[in-house]
Amino acid sequence: MQVKESLLFPRQRWRCAILPVVIWTLFTTSLPGCDQDDPSPPPEDGSGDDGGDSGDSGPWILNTTGARAPYIYETNSNAQVLVNVQSVEAVTVENKRYTRVSATGIPDYKIVITGNLYDWLINRPRAATDFVGGNPTVQVGDNVLFGQDIGYSSNSRSCDTGAGYGFWPPGPVCPENVSHQGYFPQEPEISNERCESVLGAQGYWVNGTSIYQWSDGQILDGTWHTLAPVAEVYDVDICGGHAARGEYHHHFYSDCLADLVGDNGDSHSPIYGFTADGYAIHGPWVANGELAKSSWAIRDYDDPDSPSGCGIAGERRCLLIDEYDINQGIAALASNGPSTSDTFTSLSGNIFITESGFFYEDYYWNQDLTALGGANLDQFNGHSDSERGYHYHLTVTLNEAGQLIPAFPYTFGPRFYGKLDDQTIVSVCSDEVGGGAPPGPPPG
Ligand SMILES: [Zn+2]
Ligand SMILES: [Zn+2]
Repeated sequence: MQVKESLLFPRQRWRCAILPVVIWTLFTTSLPGCDQDDPSPPPEDGSGDDGGDSGDSGPWILNTTGARAPYIYETNSNAQVLVNVQSVEAVTVENKRYTRVSATGIPDYKIVITGNLYDWLINRPRAATDFVGGNPTVQVGDNVLFGQDIGYSSNSRSCDTGAGYGFWPPGPVCPENVSHQGYFPQEPEISNERCESVLGAQGYWVNGTSIYQWSDGQILDGTWHTLAPVAEVYDVDICGGHAARGEYHHHFYSDCLADLVGDNGDSHSPIYGFTADGYAIHGPWVANGELAKSSWAIRDYDDPDSPSGCGIAGERRCLLIDEYDINQGIAALASNGPSTSDTFTSLSGNIFITESGFFYEDYYWNQDLTALGGANLDQFNGHSDSERGYHYHLTVTLNEAGQLIPAFPYTFGPRFYGKLDDQTIVSVCSDEVGGGAPPGPPPG
C-alpha cells in the first residue's frame, strides 16, 4: 500500500506548484477565520433521558486509563487535560435512542517527522516569520506529541504556557478543554429536508475532537465562500487541525486520525467519526487501494463555451442557479468576482491564486458521476453497502506522486443526508450555504 502519506506536505507541494506566493504581507496575530465559528450549544437533556447506560464504546477512542495531554493544561490550573473520549453511553430521549459521547476535544496524537513533513515545514512560504528562529526545531525522525513545541511562532495571546505554544502555526487560537457532549442517533434516518452543514462542530471524530465542514467562515465580495482546506492550508498543525474558540477540529482527512484508527488503505476504511445526523464518516478508501470519489466537479471558467463558465474566459461573473442541477444554467452577477488568475490574501497573510476550485461556488454536483456507482459517492459524499448501510466518506484524490490531496466536500455534505433533531449536535436545519451555527457562548 503506497498511497497513504501525510496530507500536509503533499498538499503543500501541490499548493506551491499551482498557487505561488507573490507577495508577503505583515503577519497579524488576529485571525478570526474559524475563530468566528460558533459551536453549537450542547443539547439539553430531554425528558425521558435514562441517565445513560455504559456499554460497548464501539469505534470511539475511550480514555480508560486517565491519560492526559502532555502539553495542554486546564485553564488556570496545573492539571493536564484528559485526552480522547471520557464516556460513551446509550441514552433514550423522547423515545429515541442516542449514543451520548462526552469528550474534552483534546486528542493524543503522536507524530513522526518524516522527510516529507519536514520539507513541508521548511518550505512554508512564510517560514522565516512562521517559526521563532526561522526554522522548525525538530528534525527528520523525531517523534512529536500533540502540543509539543516544534518552533512555530504561535498565537501569543492564547498559546502561552500550558497551551502548546510552538505546535501551532501563527494565527489560530490554541485548543482548550471544551468538555463537549454530543448525542448521535443510533438509528439515523434519511432527511426529507435540505439541511446545509454550517460553521462549528458538525459531529465528532472518534477521539472526541470536532468535525468541521468545508467553510472557514470567510466570504469574499459577499458571494464567494472560501474553503478551509484551501485558504487555511498554512493555518493547521502537522495533524491538519487547529482550534476555533478553543475547539480543536479537522476540516479534512488527517494522517493522525488515520493512524489512530489503523487505516492503511488496504481495505474499506474504518469509521473516523460520526456526524450530527448519526451517520458515520469512514476514511478515504472503499477497498484495497481504491479511493472513494467525490462527485462534485469544478466549474470550467476558462472555456467560454463551457456550460459551467460565464461566457468570458477566466471570469467569475455568474453563479450556477443550482449547484445540484447544472442544467438550470447560470445567473449573471451585478459585479465580477475574482478572475481565475487573481490573487487572494488569507487571514494569515498567505497568497493564493483564485483558480477554479478556490471557492465553494466553483463546485457543482455531477450526478452522472454518482450514477456510475461503485466508488462514486452521492451529493452528500456518501453511499450505501450491505455491510455498513449508508455512510459518508472522507474524500481525497491521488496525485502523480502518490500523495493524497483533500477533495471537496472533504468530509461529508455539503448537506446532511440524515435527519437533525433537538438533541443532535446541529439541531437547526439551515438553508444558508456556509451559514453560521446557532448563537451560543464560546466553549471553555
Ligand atoms: Zn477551522
Ligand atoms: Zn463506503
